Amino acid sequence: MLEYQLIRSKRRKTLSLQVRHGQVTVRAPYYVAATLIDTFIKEKSAWLHTKVAEQKKKPDFCDFSQGSSLFFLGEHLTLNICLAKKSNVFIDNSIANEVELFCASKPSLRQLNVVINERVSIRLIEPLDKAARVKKLLETYFKQQAEQLIIERLEFLSTQTSLSPTKVNIRQYRARWGSCNNRGELSFNYLLVMAPIFVIDYVIIHELCHLVHLNHSKDFWQLVEKFCPNVNTAKKWLNIHQSQLHWKNPT
Ligand SMILES: [Zn+2]
Repeated sequence: MLEYQLIRSKRRKTLSLQVRHGQVTVRAPYYVAATLIDTFIKEKSAWLHTKVAEQKKKPDFCDFSQGSSLFFLGEHLTLNICLAKKSNVFIDNSIANEVELFCASKPSLRQLNVVINERVSIRLIEPLDKAARVKKLLETYFKQQAEQLIIERLEFLSTQTSLSPTKVNIRQYRARWGSCNNRGELSFNYLLVMAPIFVIDYVIIHELCHLVHLNHSKDFWQLVEKFCPNVNTAKKWLNIHQSQLHWKNPT
């Protein structure tokens, strides 16, 4: 029998199965008997065993291969690589590896599609070349998304806090999410778009507050908390998902 985590809820009316990071989760209404859940798991055991094995094999970080997973706005997306006349990156709603029974709520694992130009793909003989190409396309896409989103949130949060930078930069960083210099210029890591909006907001507020205190003093943290009450939850999220928030070179 496979080990699984059972989550019962008052509102739920259906049974659902989910495999994430090699972990099986069953969601069930309060009134469903444990024996029925066991039977349900047994019926699905072949599929579950395959899924668990598949996911356990995958490294925690994205290796830019088919089926690897990547965060976008705090949501786990599954990478789907395909070929077409024109290269493109887009997110869709197709089911990746969740089974929802009895037509329950909509699936939560969506695909991040990376379309490689057919003519370019002919030259990508080694799997590593292909992964490098996928990474490049994703970088461009994430940078575009980051520029739009971070600027939008920054404008909103600037009004909320009455703090405005002199200049904003969206760039690549090795090990930080943002920075502020003594000229009042803020910089943000474009990979921040992997985090949920509340975490992005925290990082922006953090840097905006550095316009007042260019240090991590008690006064600084008090100001951050004033504008961002869930600072601890945001810091925790970044900490927990650390290993998945950095893009390594395909190896
Ligand atoms: Zn800081």
